[in-house]
Amino acid sequence: MPDRTTAPDVVIIGAGIIGLATAWELARRGVAVTVVERGTPGQAATWAAGGMLAPLAEARRPGPLLELSLAALERYAAFAEAVRDASGIDVEYTGGGKLVVAISEAEEAKLREQCEWQRASGFAVELMDGDEARRREPALSLAVRAALFLPLDCQVENRRLAQALWLATARAGVEFRLGVGAAGVRTSSAADAGRRGRGARRSPRARVLGVVLADGELIAAERVIVAAGSWSGQLDGLPRDLPVEPVRGQMLAVETIPPVLRRVVLTPGCYLIPRAGRVIVGATMERVGFRSYPTPAGVHSLLDAAVQAVPALAQAPLLEVWAGLRPGTPDDLPILGPDPAADGLFYATGHFRNGVLLAPVTADILADLVTGETPELELAAFGPERFDEGAA
Ligand SMILES: Cc1cc2nc3c(=O)[nH]c(=O)nc-3n(C[C@H](O)[C@H](O)[C@H](O)COP(=O)(O)OP(=O)(O)OC[C@H]3O[C@@H](n4cnc5c(N)ncnc54)[C@H](O)[C@@H]3O)c2cc1C
Repeated sequence: MPDRTTAPDVVIIGAGIIGLATAWELARRGVAVTVVERGTPGQAATWAAGGMLAPLAEARRPGPLLELSLAALERYAAFAEAVRDASGIDVEYTGGGKLVVAISEAEEAKLREQCEWQRASGFAVELMDGDEARRREPALSLAVRAALFLPLDCQVENRRLAQALWLATARAGVEFRLGVGAAGVRTSSAADAGRRGRGARRSPRARVLGVVLADGELIAAERVIVAAGSWSGQLDGLPRDLPVEPVRGQMLAVETIPPVLRRVVLTPGCYLIPRAGRVIVGATMERVGFRSYPTPAGVHSLLDAAVQAVPALAQAPLLEVWAGLRPGTPDDLPILGPDPAADGLFYATGHFRNGVLLAPVTADILADLVTGETPELELAAFGPERFDEGAA
């Protein structure tokens, strides 16, 4: 366990799944970590999520997101097992694949396209007609005309995972500062850094000094990781504008006893995730700022799409309705890596629709960077400097 009599080696801002997973990985490598969380760990987007681990359903083409997602999925079984062992909480990691269904001709054409590039990339996806889809999922409506089976996709119980990670990190010696937010990051100015370096190495870069809390306290640290989800760009003192924007997702759950679906079904208007005794229906995609509440219009659109694909859900008891804010970025890719303008400042944010999936690989990457190792994955596509004016 890290020595906690001195200042932390690293401060992480935000205890969503990204901050928690990263804290845990760092602690396991012997780094002394403090996590600053203004609310309760795991209660923001992480709590609202669906827990799908879906590299193939999410990727629109081969590229850096697919690479990163596959690297995440590869790690998941071991990650889920290690979290369970460390916390005693089963995070319900399961496989089973996903069925993407088409109802209109245009949707079927899109499925064919998706099938083509995924097969060409070597994935064993399966295209089938509506009858075959109903053989596999008897509750699907007669309106379903085709489906694509993605065998790789898995899922995890994200709320349990966040609880388990919180417990595991605390047991690993991570210190939590809860209930007071970070106002920002304190850095030496670039000019100071240059003066200090006179006669030795001159540096045009600023240096991280720590995290300033909302009540004015400074937690001194030479390394800081910004993992504040949709709120990451609101922190003071960052050397750049961080273009992270909230994208609201509304969700609901209906009771299904006995079970109605065997596996996750993705329809054109919603996805349906079978869990013990219930099906989760999600999710809207709305750019409405920080309004994180569900609305009648959102819930209506989800129920409409769900009942169109699985008519039996029309009479199921409605259990719960909620919403959360995905941390979106202009190119839908996360922001991972060091800030080139400030030594000791790192980002792990902007995970948009895939933060639950990407948590273990993000944790590995950030732990490598912070401890001076070279991450095994190419990070150029994810650097914060890609948004700089004039960047290619
Ligand atoms: C409806 C919905 C469905 C989703 N489904 C899936 C899915 O099926 N699979 C998947 O992989 N992903 C899914 N996602 C995306 C996933 O939930 C997010 O990408 C992920 O949770 C982001 O994690 P995070 O830790 O960055 O952010 P969050 O979970 O939002 O955590 C950020 C934390 O930072 C804290 N914070 C913010 N500002 C400060 C501050 N100044 N000081 C201190 N603390 C601060 C917040 O209180 C919060 O606890 C879904 C998201 C939504 C909303």
